[in-house]
Formats: sequence, C-alpha cells, structure tokens
Amino acid sequence: MIVTSVRVNLKKLEKEDLLLEGNLAPKELDLPQDDECIQLQEPVQYSLQASLQESFVLVRGTIQFVLNCECVRCLNYFRKPVKLDFDELLALEGEEKIEIKDDSIDLTHHIREDILLAYPQHPLCDEECDRLPQMPSRKGSKRGACAESKNSSAAWAELDKLKLD
Ligand SMILES: [Zn+2]
Repeated sequence: MIVTSVRVNLKKLEKEDLLLEGNLAPKELDLPQDDECIQLQEPVQYSLQASLQESFVLVRGTIQFVLNCECVRCLNYFRKPVKLDFDELLALEGEEKIEIKDDSIDLTHHIREDILLAYPQHPLCDEECDRLPQMPSRKGSKRGACAESKNSSAAWAELDKLKLD
C-alpha cells in the first residue's frame, strides 16, 4: 500500500508493509532559519518502506533534497543535491519507544534529524575552490556572513605564521 505521508498508521502496518512516497515542505520540518550559509527551500522527497518487526517498526529508504549554500571561500551561491539512506528501527515498546498518536507514528522528526546531520560544516562550491569573492560583501547584507568567521580565523593563522618567522 502506498501512502503519501510520513505518518505511519500502525493498524494498516499490521496488515501489510507500507510504502511512503511524497514530498515534505521545508516548513513542516521546522529547520533552523538562523544558518545563513545553508538553507533548505525546496520540498524534501521521501521514498520509504515501513514494515512491522514484532515490537519495532523498520523504516528504510531514501530521502532527497537540495540545500542552497553559500560557499565559504568564494561566497557564490550553489545548489547541493543530497540523497540520504534512511534506515531506522523504531521501538513501539520500552524506554526508547516512539510516540504513538491516533494509532500512527510520525517520522517527521527523524527525517529532520537526518537532514540536519547532512548539513555541510563548511559549504564549498567545489572541494578545490580557491577563488576569491567576486565582489566585496556589502555592509549590512547577509551575503558573506558565513565567510567572515572563516576569514578572521585565516587572519589569525597568518598572524601565527608571522610570529613563527
Ligand atoms: Zn567557492
């Protein structure tokens, strides 16, 4: 049975495995908006299979999304498509049990966690990127905000080198 939701109805799951396929809007994921270098603005595609394994629900499949990043070196914006393997064993009983509401479990939180783990620490448009910014970042603009901390630490590294010399 195909379901277009990340909520898994346990009554249905008792009868057969469920295929969850669809899109999640970024706002449903409640992702942090304070990261100026990385934003998720497009829907997240999920394709998951849920099956009941005694007192666990096994959910496996893939989630795909596109991150809009600002390169910490050249300050250019770029799109970073990400495809993640999703593999979770969720307990229905015991201390670690997942919350059940209206006979359903909600996978939104788990998908959110996986997406956050996939955020790059220092987004680079290319592993080899060594370009300098095309334009000086405008004052008061958000652009370049994430590169500033990087640049200042680079400045400290330069100072350290001078001291050694
Ligand atoms: Zn770059």
